[in-house]
Amino acid sequence: MEKPKKSLSQNFLIDKNISKKIVNQTNIKGRQILEIGPGYGFLTDSILANNPKKVYLIEKDYNLKKLLIKKYKNNQKVNIIGDDILLTNLNEFKDLIIISNLPYNISSKIILYLFSYKESICEMIFMIQKEMALKFDYKLPKMNKYKFLTKIVSHYTRCFDVSSKAFFPKPKVKSTIVRFKFSKKTIDLNKAKYFSARIFKNVRKKIYNNINTNSDNNLLNKRVNELNIDELISIYDLF
Ligand code: SAH
Repeated sequence: MEKPKKSLSQNFLIDKNISKKIVNQTNIKGRQILEIGPGYGFLTDSILANNPKKVYLIEKDYNLKKLLIKKYKNNQKVNIIGDDILLTNLNEFKDLIIISNLPYNISSKIILYLFSYKESICEMIFMIQKEMALKFDYKLPKMNKYKFLTKIVSHYTRCFDVSSKAFFPKPKVKSTIVRFKFSKKTIDLNKAKYFSARIFKNVRKKIYNNINTNSDNNLLNKRVNELNIDELISIYDLF
């Protein structure tokens, strides 16, 4: 094993029970699975044990990618399709399930990137930093752009926490497994992003200062982080 690279947020899972528990958060049998950052293929092996139709892998570390090619060269189900998830076009896919112990340094960036491929994805099961898992949870107070966009595109669940002992090297932070189940509705994501940029631009101002609307809804006299998610969505619907 090589020295894990901090720059690529490499914290490898070493607890088999946890990797089994992760893949059991969804129904893998007969499905197309995409795994981001498989590393040594530890989680990949648990995915394969649940009998998927195909497993697509995207790994940015060149040496690990070579190792994965070798490891799975006789497995017809496994396809290594790229290096950097943030440069990968997923338009050709349909009904994908994405599973990943995400690189924590870019986890929110990856999640927002994947929202734009919503039409190709059915659900996503991710291990992320616990703090980040809370940031996406629109059921919790204090609205932010992550909560808003997550609610717009998906049904979000925090599944369970994972101790740092389950990794090598141990991350300094706690981890949580989360699930985004994408809604089937067609969504104007650009409109939602534009709205969130406007409404979260100046959180100390009252909402009517940040967005243009003729409505006299009382909620417009509040500040955005005083709203709950349903109130925020009701303002979005005026927009
Ligand atoms: N899934 C493995 C490794 C998780 S660590 C396990 O659970 O053991 C995060 C992994 O993501 C590392 O293998 C790292 O090399 C990879 N990675 C980092 N940035 C990436 C990117 N932009 N695209 C794809 N993989 C990336």
